[in-house]
Amino acid sequence: MNAPLTILGSGMAGLGLARQLRARQPGRPITLITADGGDEYAKPLLSTGFAKRLAPGALATRSALAVADELQLVVRTYTRVEALDPAARELHIGAERLAYSELVIATGAAPQPPFAIDAALRHRRVFTINDLDDYRAFHAALTALERPARVAIVGAGLVGCEYANDLAAGGHGVALVAPESAPLARLLPEPLGRALAGELAAAGIDLHLGRSVTALAHDGSDLRLALDDGHGLDADLVLVATGLAPRRELAHAAGLETSAAGIHTDRQLRTSAPGIYALGDVACVDGINAMYVQPLQASVKALAATLAGTPSAVRYGPWPVIVKTPCCPVVALPPRTAPARWRIEGQGSDLTALAEDENERLMGFALTGACVRRKVELARAAPALLI
Ligand code: FAD
Repeated sequence: MNAPLTILGSGMAGLGLARQLRARQPGRPITLITADGGDEYAKPLLSTGFAKRLAPGALATRSALAVADELQLVVRTYTRVEALDPAARELHIGAERLAYSELVIATGAAPQPPFAIDAALRHRRVFTINDLDDYRAFHAALTALERPARVAIVGAGLVGCEYANDLAAGGHGVALVAPESAPLARLLPEPLGRALAGELAAAGIDLHLGRSVTALAHDGSDLRLALDDGHGLDADLVLVATGLAPRRELAHAAGLETSAAGIHTDRQLRTSAPGIYALGDVACVDGINAMYVQPLQASVKALAATLAGTPSAVRYGPWPVIVKTPCCPVVALPPRTAPARWRIEGQGSDLTALAEDENERLMGFALTGACVRRKVELARAAPALLI
């Protein structure tokens, strides 16, 4: 029997590809393998569920079984691939050797906690929320308290800020701790970050910026975070949102070209090993790992065409990132290299920042508050991410 095309990962990348490929090739054998429960869901909605008090089931659009049935795939859930043998075209799952014809690695990116988390606290009191199973565990801990929780969030990037706004809007007490002097430091110039900080504080969030967590202790009921200024924070639950790193270990161990930015691919999503492709948060496509949905969707489309026999290179447009902080909407298209200057206009928390080169050409932009309405106009004038 012919070995199937195998997709590793059932996130938006892996499932998106399966869906597009099935539409092009109704009879092709496809196997989808995932370490999690395999339910279909939109990851960006995880950080909007607590304000709406959404149970985890409300976020899953289809079960893994329904996906297998609809797309006529073999789906293996809670199955972790431990190694990959590109020469034999085999995956290792325990003692099992699973042959593939072509392989797509869509293993996403994993949270990077900056401190060790006691195994007894992990998924009970201290969490990362990077998939639906994580959301389930955190939701269960919140619900078990039967009162508004005190949640300490570590990290003020996109994920930390979104969960902070969402949990506060859901009635919980939120403290946000980060070493940077303003939130979203990788997306916004400092004045816009400060504007967002002001609105997060006005929404009731207790901000500890410019502060790092030095220790995490628990006395049975309370968790206590020690901060580097000597202060302490008490919390019922801790949410760690200090960034994600591409899950490139399998590919790296198998000798594929990788770096901290992910598994290296060309514009056709081909890795350095014949018959192996990489897609989504794990892939560094021609030097760029964007870790957002729009680049992922463009890559899915190109790879589905390539795998169906029409080699297609992916292009990324000038796509801004939309940060889901309703207390202060944010849109940003960060420049790829340091700009000559940021030109900042506006008042209060309604700000526009234009990143310009030495010839006053637009390299990127950031918008807060009411200024987010300029998103389309500025995106049209900004350079594409990958031409
Ligand atoms: P993942 O969804 O992480 O999927 C990885 C899959 O690989 C999983 O099924 C996992 O089980 C499987 N896997 C991993 N290792 C193995 C293994 N060894 N064996 C078998 N299976 C394995 N982007 C936006 O553009 N807009 C937003 O508003 C936005 N909001 C976000 C909010 C949050 C809270 C988060 C966390 C991210 C957000 N993003 C947003 C980013 C976006 O969601 C991701 O870029 C995208 O979902 C990544 O999809 P993926 O399929 O590459 O990875």
